[in-house]
Amino acid sequence: MTPETREFWASAADGDLSLSECQNCGLVYYYPRALCPDCFSDDVTGRSATGEGEVYSYSVTRTISGWPEDDLPLVVAYVELDEGVRMMTNVHADPDDVAVGTRVEVTFVDTEEPDVAIPVFVPVTDGESDG
Ligand SMILES: [Zn+2]
Repeated sequence: MTPETREFWASAADGDLSLSECQNCGLVYYYPRALCPDCFSDDVTGRSATGEGEVYSYSVTRTISGWPEDDLPLVVAYVELDEGVRMMTNVHADPDDVAVGTRVEVTFVDTEEPDVAIPVFVPVTDGESDG
């Protein structure tokens, strides 16, 4: 963990997926960096993502040496957030339920560090009452 990303992990622990927005060129990006990766401006502010997006591409890993079998298969995906940001992440779902274009939403997995949570995605379930 670096000072640059500390705020990101801290907000993740609060259930917030934080993106960075460049005030110079308007680029919204993940993960947090002090300089805009496009124009290298340091005029960057944080903003919260809606946490929803769709699967842009994905791959399924069924065996990883040394990986707990309970956590397999592992779906590794590029999720394109509604903000237009693509992030590499895990989708916690049966691989049969994941396809390109599947709507997903962020959830957070706690770690042993109390201030750190890892953002992962789960498919958005249809048919729930829309409050
Ligand atoms: Zn920029």
